[in-house]
Amino acid sequence: MPSKKALNPPAGECTQCWLHAYDSREQHKHLGPREDCPACVDHMNNGHGNMIVGR
Ligand SMILES: [Zn+2]
Ligand SMILES: [Zn+2]
Repeated sequence: MPSKKALNPPAGECTQCWLHAYDSREQHKHLGPREDCPACVDHMNNGHGNMIVGR
């Protein structure tokens, strides 16, 4: 289970990127040690869409 912090990004943060940052081990456990997370790479390259937490 992700921690409470991982599930509660502050305003201005991306829900997905926050979760992946603070629950990294769990969210990335399906990846190999040198494999990039497609979800994180997508956000890095294409932006965060509408997943930014509003103020
Ligand atoms: Zn993001
Ligand atoms: Zn990720």
